[in-house]
Amino acid sequence: MKVLVVNCGSSSVKYALFSMTHEKKIACGLVECIGLPEAYFKRQSVGQEEEKTLCKVSNHFEAVELIISHLLDPEKGSIKNVDEIYAIGHRIVHGGDKFSDSVLVDENVKAGLKECFSIAPLHTPHHYAGIEAVEKMLPGIPSILVFDTAFHQTMPDYAYMYAVPYEYYKRDHVRRYGMHGTSHKYVMQRAAAMLGKNPEDINLITCHLGNGSSITAIKNGKVIDTSMGFTPLAGLVMGTRCGDIDPAVLVHIMAENPKITSDEMNDLLNKESGLRGISGLSGDMRTIVKAIQAGNKRAKLAFDMLCYSAKKYICMYYGVLNGIDGIAFTAGIGENVPSVREKACENLQNLNIELDIEKNNTPGQDERFISADGSKVKIMVIPTNEELMIAREAMKVLADH
Ligand code: ADP
Repeated sequence: MKVLVVNCGSSSVKYALFSMTHEKKIACGLVECIGLPEAYFKRQSVGQEEEKTLCKVSNHFEAVELIISHLLDPEKGSIKNVDEIYAIGHRIVHGGDKFSDSVLVDENVKAGLKECFSIAPLHTPHHYAGIEAVEKMLPGIPSILVFDTAFHQTMPDYAYMYAVPYEYYKRDHVRRYGMHGTSHKYVMQRAAAMLGKNPEDINLITCHLGNGSSITAIKNGKVIDTSMGFTPLAGLVMGTRCGDIDPAVLVHIMAENPKITSDEMNDLLNKESGLRGISGLSGDMRTIVKAIQAGNKRAKLAFDMLCYSAKKYICMYYGVLNGIDGIAFTAGIGENVPSVREKACENLQNLNIELDIEKNNTPGQDERFISADGSKVKIMVIPTNEELMIAREAMKVLADH
């Protein structure tokens, strides 16, 4: 039984094909720079070399067409017939408050997704184009939408509301939604398995630290708060995003620089801030770590700020949850940078959070415990797998139908 996972971005389509019997990825790749002369198609099937070729694709439909025809290629493909694909799982960035779980696509669902265009205009229309392309290319094969926001829909109103006039919530849907939900959910399920508990019995803080970062408070397997907000800009200091700041800073910057447009302000906060903005070097943690080793003070400041923001969220959610079973680190930084984990958990012995420095510093690719033996709160590194989670969700939705 095979599930195709599709992720349509603004100018790219990524895909992964899973054989669900053993949950193995058998092919993956992406079409990048759609509509541009430098468009290319990168793909890899299990046991074969990665290939990359320039291609001519003017829209998402053509990209999906290219991917399907490659999957069917008699020599280098992974399937003989499209009927081998049991379901298609689509990654959807924003489901607003319309979608609190993964759903099977029908006309109603498509209409609901269209209503989410305004809330994530850079992503949702492309997801929609991808869904329509797949429907035309693979008629009769069920499509399932898996939302980055869905796992966070269990937050109580006092956690998701912003204290601005209520009409902005009613009219403009302004509230906290949270992101990375598919990753947080996957990590929560794996953490429960590692701790030998049912997900419904677990109290956990999940730390997804990548280019974009978010931390989530999970009570009895359900999200009760998360650090990202109306958009991914809120919360931690990130690669190029500022995270939480006093909103009056924006008003001040705009008053002092009257020529700045809202698009420029958006870029400043999303693309020029965070590690990049503070260090003046890069939003990439690898560059920051190297610069710190070379004695760069601003890189060190950026690093310290990121770690401190993670620590603050951990402590805040520890309190909100009234104690936890574990903390799980995931994503590029969470999985690979021991010094960030160390700083984020530093001096928290009073909260029964204690890292084993040696375990933390031992490199690894697998799920592992990094807490000290006596630490009541178990600290874990859990490599995320959003694609597999989407494939699992697609299977689950069909099984429940
Ligand atoms: P995205 O949010 O784009 O999915 P990732 O989860 O891939 O991001 O995380 C990217 C971040 O992780 C970058 O800052 C990168 O430098 C960092 N990172 C990834 N691998 C390593 C590593 N081995 N050592 C240090 N930093 C790493």
